[in-house]
Amino acid sequence: MLSRTLAPARLTLLGRNAGRCAYSETAASLYDLIVIGGGSGGLACAKEAADLGKNVAVLDFVKPSPIGTKWDIGGTCVNVGCIPKKLMHQAAIHGHNLQDSKKYGWSVPDNITNNWQSLSKSVQMHVRSLNWGHKVQLNEKNVTYYNAYGSFLNSNTVKGTTSEGKEILLESERIVIAVGGRPRYPQIPGAKEYCMTSDDIFWKSEPPGKTLVIGGSYVGLECAGFLQGLGFDTTVMIRSIPLRGFDQQMASLVLDNMGTNGITIKNGFVPTQVMKNDDTLDVEMQTVDGSAKEVSSYDTVLIATGRDALTSTLNLDSAGVKLSDSGKVIVDECERSSANGIYAIGDAAQGRPELTPVAVKAGKLLAQRLFADSDQLMDYTVIPTTVFTPLEYGSVGLSEEAAISFYGEDEIEVYHAFYKPLEYAMAERDSSHCYIKAIAERGSGKIIGMHLLGPNAGEVLQGFAVAMRCGVTYVQLSSVVGIHPTCAEEIVKLHFTKRSGLDPTVTGC
Ligand code: FAD
Ligand code: NDP
Repeated sequence: MLSRTLAPARLTLLGRNAGRCAYSETAASLYDLIVIGGGSGGLACAKEAADLGKNVAVLDFVKPSPIGTKWDIGGTCVNVGCIPKKLMHQAAIHGHNLQDSKKYGWSVPDNITNNWQSLSKSVQMHVRSLNWGHKVQLNEKNVTYYNAYGSFLNSNTVKGTTSEGKEILLESERIVIAVGGRPRYPQIPGAKEYCMTSDDIFWKSEPPGKTLVIGGSYVGLECAGFLQGLGFDTTVMIRSIPLRGFDQQMASLVLDNMGTNGITIKNGFVPTQVMKNDDTLDVEMQTVDGSAKEVSSYDTVLIATGRDALTSTLNLDSAGVKLSDSGKVIVDECERSSANGIYAIGDAAQGRPELTPVAVKAGKLLAQRLFADSDQLMDYTVIPTTVFTPLEYGSVGLSEEAAISFYGEDEIEVYHAFYKPLEYAMAERDSSHCYIKAIAERGSGKIIGMHLLGPNAGEVLQGFAVAMRCGVTYVQLSSVVGIHPTCAEEIVKLHFTKRSGLDPTVTGC
């Protein structure tokens, strides 16, 4: 047990209601809960604990990116992830829609262009409003916010260091690690000096120009998609397969669609060096087997080669917290680390899908278990997600590959369809990549995977994820009446199986 030696007056002095920050240079302040990291998971956990009447402190601190970009409270999602990404994706969709609108009778000039400065300014203003909103909420809920970098002194004590080097000491029997991650750079000359990452692109005030995106997963493909949609000459370099872990038929359709949209795909290449040459960047690259090399010039090189959890500077040894080989905190199903009273949630925890709603739900449920006698655990299965590429790819449950390896090819049924969104038909847009796949367990008919490539896939799939959580079967799915004319209705109309070998192209209503 911690000795509760701090007088209540001392706590007040330290500023439970002190607004933005509160600092003490002497004794440690005692809290019911300390959260290190004010991002998606940390803020959700802290606010929930405060709602349950607890005395909570949150430390959040952003170290600038190698090229100097920095931002405020709210974490990756708010500042350099989901939010600015979705807004830029939306900006690119507006461009496509403007082109389509000619077919809907609008007079639109041929050479419409996007103004990056104006777009990025609007996006940044929106992000700043969210930063402000988080601070207001913390204040309203009496959560003490420290704009300080947290590290452990022992399993009950956290040291916070401010940007001016001021140190504060905080104590609690319960500490949550919610530090998230930051982009990983390839070990090549010029990477950190000249390249940027998703930490920088949304805060860049000048237009990126001709851009090379390195990395073929979520971040790389999404960034390449909106950059091309905004009118920039865009190349994506993929060293092995696109969207590792996702259904590979869907992934290759995503990539084909990006290629059709004008994005150059460099498959099987890795970068070896980035050099500055006056106003451009020369990128030396080679095939994975080293058989071919080339150098190409770009205005911007955006690295999206994965992310590392921010655990190495937390002094976790002093607290007895064990890390996995990948540097994430090893946790059990209750989010408990190897150290008593220390928990980890979100991107910094081992084996958790790196998604905002996952971190938020895990944080809230943890606070309820700690302070409201709840025993509800976070269920990490059947988690829906969407890749916001120009044509969105929404997915929930197993990929076809995973279903085959888990159940065996003869034990699953794959229902699928190529469909044409009505909106595309009149605009004469290419719909050859609009595709749906539902994978069912053959015996019970239970749907175990659902994949949708098409407009607004994220919006469409959310409800079907609810059905999957409730154990929906193929028969139940097909008994539902569609909403006509929508893309979503194609899911309840699926009737071609892959096994049949019949052409799955939907024709007519
Ligand atoms: P974070 O949100 O990263 O928050 C951690 C916070 O802790 C940060 O503010 C960090 O600076 C701070 N911190 C770190 N170390 C310390 C320390 N020692 N002391 C004090 N503070 C510290 N997910 C989706 O669901 N949908 C999307 O569309 C989506 N798009 C994304 C797009 C991009 C480009 C990226 C990079 C990610 C995207 N994600 C998306 C993933 C999502 O952003 C993360 O899964 C989510 O933010 C993780 O939340 P977290 O609380 O674990 O960490
Ligand atoms: P990932 O780890 O998913 O992918 C990294 C990519 O970089 C892979 O294509 C990998 O290739 C490639 N790569 C790694 N090292 C190198 C190298 N040295 N040279 C060339 N290529 C390399 O990371 P992301 O940053 O894309 O995404 C991180 C997480 O963020 C995701 O898992 C997701 O959970 C979350 N996120 C969610 C989004 C959403 O919900 N819409 C959007 C964006 C991010 P290889 O496959 O060969 O290893």
